[in-house]
Amino acid sequence: MRVLITGAAGFLGSHLCDRFLADGHQVVGLDNFITGHADNIAHLIGQPRFEFVRHNISTYTYVAGPLDGVLHFASPASPIDYLEHPIPTLKVGALGTHNALGLALHKRARFFLASTSEVYGDPLVHPQPESYWGNVNPVGPRGVYDEAKRFAEAMTMAYHRFHKLDTRVVRIFNTYGPRMRPRDGRVVSNFIVQALAGEPITIYGDGSQTRSFCYVSDEVEGIYRLFMSGDSDPMNIGNPVEYTVRQLAEVVLDLTGARVPIERKPLPVDDPKVRQPDITRARAMLGWEPAVPLRDGVARTIDYFRALGAERLGARG
Ligand code: UDP
Repeated sequence: MRVLITGAAGFLGSHLCDRFLADGHQVVGLDNFITGHADNIAHLIGQPRFEFVRHNISTYTYVAGPLDGVLHFASPASPIDYLEHPIPTLKVGALGTHNALGLALHKRARFFLASTSEVYGDPLVHPQPESYWGNVNPVGPRGVYDEAKRFAEAMTMAYHRFHKLDTRVVRIFNTYGPRMRPRDGRVVSNFIVQALAGEPITIYGDGSQTRSFCYVSDEVEGIYRLFMSGDSDPMNIGNPVEYTVRQLAEVVLDLTGARVPIERKPLPVDDPKVRQPDITRARAMLGWEPAVPLRDGVARTIDYFRALGAERLGARG
């Protein structure tokens, strides 16, 4: 197969490039480096089955040659990133998805949308099955991401129903691991980087809010299987083991051995109180479930950040 992956220099996009290349496929990677980083794909540059194009998918996009798949992973994805880039976030979910769908239709390629557990907002149903419609504030600061992804899902389903395009929609829950940007603001990277830098661990609110953290290799395996053998209905891919933010801080302190204080900060607006995927559908259809426990995944992520060195640990980019 020859596939296009948007957001190829991002955290998930770059791992996905690796996964397709490992199975012998050809990959065209596309990124505009708003939040992606060249280091994530440096090992792929020069490989014969990998091509890279620096381009913004929210503008008109043409890719020469046949494509069997278009996987749309481009978007700022951490809360502070989409607060910093609210309009590019809305555009890549809306215009970028439309361009990627149009390209897939033109090439008769399978289209794969990276959606998010944020479509459930601050959920009133717990854990969240795919049938839950969500509780989203459209005009709050997170609305730029949540509504763009909800629009993207609606647009994808419209192409599926109206144009009979072969489509997939994955709802990705909190994922962590190597190649996260050190200062991207997400909780796992923040806590590890703070611990390694000898800075206080910043807990927002009282730390009783929960998330369910999936290690990147598990997430990418679920995504790959969904692409290859799933159907067009949305699919949750995430780890159902749920932790409070405070418990995560304890795991990071324990595994780094850091002796840093905990600093309380205000809870961001509309921060979901709980989040846990119901993965019944993924288990049944894909025979998939996560294999990496939190402590193992956090230990591997600590190794990655340690190896990055002080200069990149301090940088936002
Ligand atoms: N959080 C925190 N300290 C941090 C960063 C995040 O306590 O330094 C909390 C945040 O308020 C949220 C959870 O951790 O409840 C997960 O935040 P993240 O930004 O990773 O992603 P989200 O799941 O909210 O999209």
